[in-house]
Amino acid sequence: MLGLMQNRQLSIASLIEHAARTHGSTEVVSRLVDGSIHRSTYHETARRSRQAANALQSLGVEVGDRVATLAWNTHRHLELYYAISGFGAVCHTINPRLFFEQIRFIVDHAEDRVLFFDPTFSGLVEEIAEVCPSVEAFVVLCSRDEMPRDLKVGNLLCYEDLLTDEVETFQWPDLPEETAAALCYTSGTTGNPKGVLYSHRSTILHAYASVMPDAFGISARDCVMPASSMYHANAWGLPYAATLAGAKLVLPCNQLDGPHLTEMIDAERVTISCGVPTIWLGVLQYLAKTKQSLKSLRRLVVSGSACPVSLITNYRKRHDVEIMHFWGMTELSPLGTIARVPHEDANAPDEVLDEMRSRQGRPLYGVEIEIVDDEGVPLPHDGETFGDLMVRGFWVADGYFRRDERESDAEGWFRTGDVSTIDPSGVMRITDRSKDVIKSGGEWISSIDLENAAVGHPSVAEAAVVGIPHPKWDERPLLIAVLNEGAEPDAQSIRDFLLDHVARWQLPDDIVFVDEIPHTATGKILKMELRDIYADHFLS
Ligand code: ADP
Repeated sequence: MLGLMQNRQLSIASLIEHAARTHGSTEVVSRLVDGSIHRSTYHETARRSRQAANALQSLGVEVGDRVATLAWNTHRHLELYYAISGFGAVCHTINPRLFFEQIRFIVDHAEDRVLFFDPTFSGLVEEIAEVCPSVEAFVVLCSRDEMPRDLKVGNLLCYEDLLTDEVETFQWPDLPEETAAALCYTSGTTGNPKGVLYSHRSTILHAYASVMPDAFGISARDCVMPASSMYHANAWGLPYAATLAGAKLVLPCNQLDGPHLTEMIDAERVTISCGVPTIWLGVLQYLAKTKQSLKSLRRLVVSGSACPVSLITNYRKRHDVEIMHFWGMTELSPLGTIARVPHEDANAPDEVLDEMRSRQGRPLYGVEIEIVDDEGVPLPHDGETFGDLMVRGFWVADGYFRRDERESDAEGWFRTGDVSTIDPSGVMRITDRSKDVIKSGGEWISSIDLENAAVGHPSVAEAAVVGIPHPKWDERPLLIAVLNEGAEPDAQSIRDFLLDHVARWQLPDDIVFVDEIPHTATGKILKMELRDIYADHFLS
């Protein structure tokens, strides 16, 4: 027997229409590419999204077509999130930091028909236009007087002109909630990038879950500033979550450095922000140097790579900011598990709580996790045994765009490529990415544990640990460190410091000091490149 409740379909357009009706005057503040500040509201965002949807129709876009963006975190990109998905097309957010060949691959693979881009990307777009025949129109996200001149791109249009020509009403189609809404390619360190195709249903359920108190805890009293890019897993879903909650939204463009983020936080009274650990480490260093404090910020969502406990402690002690550390993947929209402290532990000493917050945490309702051995047999949840992390849930990918094979097994489990433990209370800890675990004489060493410990040393700004071939032990850890400004390289002091955190046999065999560590397009340490560079380090 079926229930007798209404079967309204979950839809992305309903988010912005709700915000316009219920929180219409709440601000959407955006930094623009030229550094100026643009002020808008949810009411205005909804109106312009409808105009943009009409413009898509005028351009001949049809339901199911892919429409790409090459854009920073701005109000126009937000309007396109709602216009493209709400229209029934697929919003394909291109990561501009991918190699050109990868960008070319994904534009071709997605068969993008229209490309909206910030003027910053004019050069890149010229190259795309030359080699990607599927794109019929290129729309610059600017006003007429800001249009780039002499761009060698056919059918070049101006976003503000397009909108002006359109009416402010649009009948959003009633789409089945499984309809594809957004497409995000993983950076693909090996092989071609893979397209994760979100649906209206997965995106809305993810947004519902992420505003919950034990997730990001976003309410209409908050001011949310996503400092993860809108082309990286939809800025971790924060633009949707803020719209759902009716929170004030601040979009920092591409200005993700200490001075700009601090200025935005103080000027707009941001209460919650997010980003990869490196960004917030940069902000912390800037604040220390300029002797400033963060007045309004209360919570920071940190993910993308393991959050060092020292970062958690420093934000708590110096700025009274709680770091909410979560683990996720593009394939999980991206939220999987989050480290929040439950009631029973609430009175533990601060240092213990910081350590708890540095774990990857418990899954949210809507996500299940399991660890298995090489044969797929489940392993004990004892906090010590580690295995391949599997996940299934309401917003987990089942396959990739235009690949026939399903990624989930018969029971719905998706293999994440991470290795982790799960403790008896359900808390997950990532040991490593499976390809980054260091295999030394039959024992495994976690590169993440060593990196986290190393950045706790007062002179280390960033640390990468990779397994390097070794004549006796197969592989041994090598620590590659970037020092804080003015710090002297002192390998012995770092080694002594590490001994407080890891067993002696896990200590790196050597430490090299460098000016910079290479990163992937999503800000992760490019370990493959480091392994190549130092391949002979222990052999010679
Ligand atoms: P990419 O496109 O670079 O693969 P993703 O964001 O999808 O970007 O990367 C997901 C991976 O990032 C995870 O599988 C995991 O290895 C790593 N990761 C994400 N969050 C954390 C975390 N909190 N701790 C440790 N590793 C993390």
